[in-house]
Parts: sequence; structure tokens; C-alpha cells
Amino acid sequence: MRYQRPRGTNDILPDDTPLWNRVEETFRTLCKHYGYHEIRTPIFEDTDLFTRSMGEHTDVVSKEMYTFTDRGGRLITLKPEGTAPVVRAYVENNLAAQGGVSKLYYITPIFRYERPQAGRYRQAHQLGVEAIGSQHPALDAEVIALAMHFYREMGITRLSLVLNSVGCPVCRPVYRERLREFAKPFVHELCDACQTRFDLNPLRMLDCKRERCRTLLHDAPDIIESLCEECRTHFDALRAYLDALQIPYVVDKHLVRGFDYYTKTAFEIVSDALGAQNALGGGGRYDGLVEEIGGPPTPGIGFALGIERAIIVLKELGLAQAKRETVDVFVAALGEDATLPALQLLQALREAGMSAEMDYQRRSLKGQMKLADRLGSRITLMLGEEELAQGVVTLRDMVTKEQRFVPVDDVVPQVIRALQPEHA
Ligand SMILES: [Zn+2]
Ligand SMILES: [Zn+2]
Repeated sequence: MRYQRPRGTNDILPDDTPLWNRVEETFRTLCKHYGYHEIRTPIFEDTDLFTRSMGEHTDVVSKEMYTFTDRGGRLITLKPEGTAPVVRAYVENNLAAQGGVSKLYYITPIFRYERPQAGRYRQAHQLGVEAIGSQHPALDAEVIALAMHFYREMGITRLSLVLNSVGCPVCRPVYRERLREFAKPFVHELCDACQTRFDLNPLRMLDCKRERCRTLLHDAPDIIESLCEECRTHFDALRAYLDALQIPYVVDKHLVRGFDYYTKTAFEIVSDALGAQNALGGGGRYDGLVEEIGGPPTPGIGFALGIERAIIVLKELGLAQAKRETVDVFVAALGEDATLPALQLLQALREAGMSAEMDYQRRSLKGQMKLADRLGSRITLMLGEEELAQGVVTLRDMVTKEQRFVPVDDVVPQVIRALQPEHA
């Protein structure tokens, strides 16, 4: 084979697209019910947007971005995540001027140079929302409820919501020092990445995936105990809302996000059906991000859910069957003279709102009937020498196997009638 798709990418074939569409349509419908509106941003942005918003020292920025210089000498990056572009668009287009909370959703590919493994791709796809303009914990509850509702609507069970608060620029520095104090005696035993984190971003030590680091940091101080009054009130209110909405969760002090613009709520949705890479998606509050990107201080919260991961779980749970796409009508043309009238018939049926198909490979009648079966057609119209001579078409009901002649002029209305549910 001469060409192969790039490593870490997927072709989503017609057998799989109905499932993808089901996932995306479910998400769109729920977003509509929750009052979120779609936003589409470019596939690429100035590199600086991501270095700024995600931080130079993150793995994504330092090792995983698809960055290149364009012909104009600009440094460009294929978006590795969805939030920064949405916030950039919010600021640039002054969506704040519309007043109220901007409730936005997106469906987008993201690009990361990752080591390909189950559930991780170099082009992956995400569903996400961003709610910008309020720091009310009820909005946190709404965003989390939407994410959980989405999975429930898809039939995905066996998942859990993991919750934490990462504090704010007032209380986090205090916690950071407590954590450093705790880790100081064994910092040289941590992995290289964590030793760097110890200096630059100690909170990130807490979500290190290495067993050794996890063990050493198991008894790290709990950030919840270091929260300031405002952050604690917010966290308590959110928990009360989730309880009232009957959304179960577990609090995990090891769930963190590293940067100062991430504030208060952090959450992740995990499924044991995903194995070790068990996060389906996650999100949190980012009250400092709009300002970081050049807008006025504006609070916000959002999440991103992986489509590929949702699909892995759907398949794992045996929920991946999407309804097979079938055609309403198959037109069987016998002989070259029948091709043109068949084509006209096909066009008339399609313009009347039906799906219709014919054979383009000069199959025999038997071959065409097999094709009609394979396509799942409810009605087959046959056009041969005899029909042409009489100005009729043979209409065959593929379920009852009944067939009759129908005048050409009357075919479309008769097919419509035959397709009606009472004839099914
Ligand atoms: Zn605080
Ligand atoms: Zn580590």
C-alpha cells in the first residue's frame, strides 16, 4: 500500500459515522435544552494563545503541539484544546457586550503529538461547553449536570464524577507552600517531572501518574482544608446543589489543575470501562483566563469530553449499535433503454423527499434485487422492456412481496402512499 493515514489518526468510516452522529446529535440537543449556543473557531491559532493559556511548562505545550511557521513567518498551532480559542473569540468579538452569561458549546477536532495508545490520538475530537460571565456556583452545577446528562442520555453507566476545588490566587499560594513543605524531605525520590514541578508548579505533583510519586504523595495535605472563606463557601454550595440534583460524586484531593487562572471547581468524569486511561472528560472553573487572554476580569467555567473515549465506552458496554441507514426506494432498470427513465424516476423520488438508489454496474435483474435487499429498500420499482412499452412501472413491496403495474405519471404519489406506516 502506497499511502497510509498519519500515525495516531483515524478514518471514521460509514459503518461508524451513524454512531458519531448519534453522539454529536445527543450533545447538540442537550446543549439546546440547557441554553448553550454553538461556536466554531478556526482549526489553528497563534501559538502564543496556547502557550499563554496552557503554560509553557505543560506537556501539551512543551512536547505535543503541532506548531509550524506559515508562509508569512507567523508561528501557528493546530488547536490542542478547545477552551482558549473560545475565550479568545469571546474577547475578540466582545460577546460580553450582549450581556448576561455567554453559554457556548463546540464540537471540534484537537491535535496533540501523543504517543498513540488506546483512546489517545494525534487528531482527537471533543465536545465542550464554556459558560462565561458568572461566578455563581449554580453555574458550576449546571455545567456538571449537562456533562453527566449527556452520558446518561447515551446510556453510559459505570462512570463516576470526581470533584475538587483548586482554590484561588488568594488561598492557593498558602496551600502550595504547605505542599512544598510536605514534599521537601523526599523531593529527590520523585520522578524528574515532579522534581521540576516541585519548583514551578507543585500542585501538578499530585496528579502524577507514576506509582512511586503517587505513593509518596498519598498523604499530602488536603487543599480543601486550605481554602479561603470564599472558595470554601463556593465549594460547599456546589456540593449542596449536586446533592439536590442527585448527582453523585467523590471528592479527590489529587485532582488538580496547575495554573493560576484555574480557580475553585475542578472535575473529571471517569469510567472503569476505559481501563487505565480512564478519564472520559473533565473541566473546571477558570476565573482568571479571560483576563490572561487580554479581556476584562471575567469568570468562567467549562468542560471538554472526548468523543473517541465515549465511543470506546459505548462499544465496551455493547451500546454501539446505531440504526442502519436504509433506502426508501430502489429503482431496477433492465436494459440500456431503461436507464434514462430510471434516472428521471430516481430524481423525482428524491425531489419528493424520499431516499432512492439504483444500480450503476449493469447488474442482472437478480443482481439488482440482491442489491435492493442489501440496501434495505422498502419498495422496488422495476423498469424493463414491457413496462417501457406500456408506460408503466412495476411497483414491488419488498416486505409483502406483492407487485403491480403503476402508470409512470402516478408513480411518486403511489410510492408515497405505499411507504406510509399503515402499509408497513
Ligand atoms: Zn480562595
Ligand atoms: Zn512524578
